Amino acid sequence: MEIFDLMSEWDHEQLSFWNDRELGYRGIIAIHDTTLGPALGGTRFWNYDSDQAAIIDALRLSRGMTYKAAITGLNLGGGKSIIWGDNKIVDREMIFRAHGRAVESLGGRYITAEDVGTSPDDMEFVSMETEHVVGLLGRSGDPSPVTAFGVYRGIKASAAFRYGDDSLADKHIVVQGLGHVGYYLCQDLAEEGAKLTVTDIDEDRIQKVVDDFGADVVAPDAVYDVDGDIFAPCAMGAIINDDTIDRLKFDIIAGAANNQLARGNVHGPAITKRDILYAPDYVINAGGLINVYGEINEWSAERSKRQAGDIYNTLLRIFELAKSEGIGTHAAANKVAESRVLQARHLQRTF
Ligand code: NAD
Repeated sequence: MEIFDLMSEWDHEQLSFWNDRELGYRGIIAIHDTTLGPALGGTRFWNYDSDQAAIIDALRLSRGMTYKAAITGLNLGGGKSIIWGDNKIVDREMIFRAHGRAVESLGGRYITAEDVGTSPDDMEFVSMETEHVVGLLGRSGDPSPVTAFGVYRGIKASAAFRYGDDSLADKHIVVQGLGHVGYYLCQDLAEEGAKLTVTDIDEDRIQKVVDDFGADVVAPDAVYDVDGDIFAPCAMGAIINDDTIDRLKFDIIAGAANNQLARGNVHGPAITKRDILYAPDYVINAGGLINVYGEINEWSAERSKRQAGDIYNTLLRIFELAKSEGIGTHAAANKVAESRVLQARHLQRTF
């Protein structure tokens, strides 16, 4: 593995490594691009098979954060950090304080938050060593309702583009995953009179949505065969793959899950070919990032929610571009994000 070649391939600015043998702390901080502002991205705590796998994940995820912030109109760059190890460990204070010191040493070029394998409590330990951490207890709080509202607005934009009318009343919407985001999304959709079919692997979560919103239920693997109008994946990634793509009969796919396309360059074009309108995941699920951006800028909760609602207009712009250029919506989203970063670089020519 040639590290500089990897960094050049994806155009990364900085990759730093941290080690403390006594504490058992091994950290990686990847900064992809800081044209628009400080690099923001969560800390993932995960037991990778190799340091190469950890590095590649840090590079991939930090780059994704640049695109997400850019397309959402936020003045943030893209970053991500990894703590390599067993995320079930009980003694967490010193690992996360060590991580906080690593973050602090970057002087604000990188801001962290919770991610897979970490919790708001872990971020409290990070905050003992640095101010460059968001999503702390008692601050902007659980981002899921804001994420869900952004997804709801994104579904409406998708309906407006596809059907010429953004009303979801009587639209048959299938929600996969009834966790933090999925539950609030069902609430927003039910309030508008959508007909819901839902699935989860957790019986209690299904029962709550059935009781609260009167949804129909389908088995987890049968969800791809439902003859509905709109599919909202809100569970795990890579659900649009070689096994599922030919089963999908939906007009629209628009949901919160990250990395919905198993392989972007294959399943992005394949979904366009099947005439399914795809709302790119990193655009429609940006409400969580907006929520922490609001925390940094001391926005009111209402302002963060309003900004998440604007995902509607961002998606319409992407859909129009994809149509006019004859490209997939995922490719169009990347184009808009890259263009904002390039334009901001140009802007900085003026002293
Ligand atoms: P969560 O863990 O609270 O909920 C996920 C739900 O999916 C759980 O109820 C789980 O039982 C269910 N699930 C797991 N495997 C399933 C399967 N095979 N079939 C059906 N259901 C299954 O997570 P969340 O916070 O609601 O996030 C949902 C998705 O949205 C994730 O992909 C996450 O990365 C993404 N996302 C979340 C936020 C946020 O603010 N929480 C922001 C951006 C993106």
